Order: sequence, then structure tokens, then C-alpha cells
Amino acid sequence: MNNKVKKELVLSMFSMIIFEQIFKMKKYLLFVLLSIVSINVQANCEDLNTFTVVIDRGHDNVDKGAIVDDESEFDILSSLVAEITGELTSNIKVIYHNPTGSRMTLEERAAQINALKPDLVISIHMGFSDNGPRQAAIVLNDKNMGFEKSKEHASSLITHLSKDAYFSTIRTEVTGVALLEKVNAPAFMLEIGNMNASRDRYYLQSNGSKRVSLNFTAFLNDLN
Ligand SMILES: [Zn+2]
Repeated sequence: MNNKVKKELVLSMFSMIIFEQIFKMKKYLLFVLLSIVSINVQANCEDLNTFTVVIDRGHDNVDKGAIVDDESEFDILSSLVAEITGELTSNIKVIYHNPTGSRMTLEERAAQINALKPDLVISIHMGFSDNGPRQAAIVLNDKNMGFEKSKEHASSLITHLSKDAYFSTIRTEVTGVALLEKVNAPAFMLEIGNMNASRDRYYLQSNGSKRVSLNFTAFLNDLN
């Protein structure tokens, strides 16, 4: 073997090694790339599978809603809403909007709720009517962007809440509640009990809150 051939052989062996290394690196890079893609896909799938419910407790610490016998709608609902969710299945996420009850305009409230990208928004209030105690109502707005879905979810909530015989009547109304129109998700309002019925105020602050919470949790777990 002359020197030239030797040199060529060494060179070609050398380039083969380099080529092999690049090939291995490529495989490694491909592996890294695929892992990143699969992690992203997994993360996106989790996002897609999570059903986010935003609960908007009516009123705030300035506008406390109806006040009867020194009891305010805001205070009764604050304690009720804090306990309304029990054990949830992994794909249901509940976010309490504005838990401290900061004062905000309707526009601010809607913008903050929309930023949470909810799949469903439930605004919880107490009613005020001459119908007496043991009444609840679902209030819908047909200008809500997910009106059909809202009706579906509302009807499921009625099925669950009526397991508690205390709420002898749960009616459905379609009105022009502004918040329901401003949120970018199916949404409805739940009016649970009447503020001007002392029996309802007592019920929601005693054993009633546990029953409502149990049925509400079952409703949430039935979503999705
Ligand atoms: Zn209210």
C-alpha cells in the first residue's frame, strides 16, 4: 500500500466515523425533538380534557346584594360557595372568581372571568320574591354565546339539586342578565332560595349547605 492509498483509506475511515457520529446525533436530536413534541401534545390534551367551571358568587363587599334582618346575600353566599364543591373527578376544575369580594364593575367581572377561559360559568345568587321559601331558579340569557349548552347544563343542575326535597320548585327563566351576555362561555345564574324567606337563609347556613354541596358536586362530576 503506498502512502497515497493509505492516506485515502484513513481519510475515508475518518469520514465514515464522522458520518456515523452525525447519524447518531441526528437520531438523538430526533429523539429529543419527538419527546418535546409528545410532551406538548400531552399538555395540550390535558388542556383539552379539563373542563373548567368558573363560579361567580354574586355581589361584592361593597354591593352586598339583598340585605334582610342584617343578613346579606353576599355573606350567606360567601360561606355557601366556599363549601359548594366536594371531591371532583380529575378533569373538572372549579375556579371561584373574586373570592375576597373586591368591588368591580360588570365589565371588569366579565373580563376577568373570560381570562380564565371557562367551559361553563355559574353565577350564584339568592332570589327575592313573593313565592315564599323553598324556591330556586335557573336564569338564562338567550344572548349568551352558548345558550343551547347553557340550557343543557342548567337542566342537569336542576336534576341534581332537586334530589334535595327542600327545593320543592326549581323554575327556569330566560331574562336579560348582562353578565351572561358578556361572558364567552355557556353560562347561567342560579338563584338558590329567597333572601326574604328567613327559612331559606337559615337552611343555607345550616344543614342545607351540605345537601346543596353534595348535589352540586355530583352535577360537576357529571359534566364532560
Ligand atoms: Zn343577587
